Amino acid sequence: MPANALNAEIFCPVCGSKDFHKQSQSIEHKLTMSVTFMVSSNSFTCNLCHMVGDFSNANDDTFTNAKNIAVAEFATKAINSLNAMGYTNSALARALGLSPRTLHKWKAGACSNSGLALLKILIEFPFIIEVAANDFDRQYILKTHPNYITKN
Ligand SMILES: [Zn+2]
Repeated sequence: MPANALNAEIFCPVCGSKDFHKQSQSIEHKLTMSVTFMVSSNSFTCNLCHMVGDFSNANDDTFTNAKNIAVAEFATKAINSLNAMGYTNSALARALGLSPRTLHKWKAGACSNSGLALLKILIEFPFIIEVAANDFDRQYILKTHPNYITKN
């Protein structure tokens, strides 16, 4: 049995040949400075015309799935960390103008890209929660974080 008999539906997109060899590699990607995730991808080389590429068209889905898992893990950990700092989910929701249900969903792993961006910011700069809880009042920021006040 040829090695790629199990890949009967995979063929070279240039010449249609099913005679190819496959190489797999794992690459580490960064979600944040401290959170990474590994993605294994396949590269195929046609033995007939020497075309190289992702003949299986699976690498994008593999990347997206791995990233979604990493985002879900990060969101859960980030909200747990914020909870451990004393910010309950209802306090966070109130300060940020979000529904408690949204935070609950993020904590359960269903976190959007904008949610991910917000959680990255809050984990690095948790004082922003206090600023938000004070309606981004300039006098409050000037008093508590004068180095962060903008000019206009
Ligand atoms: Zn080919």
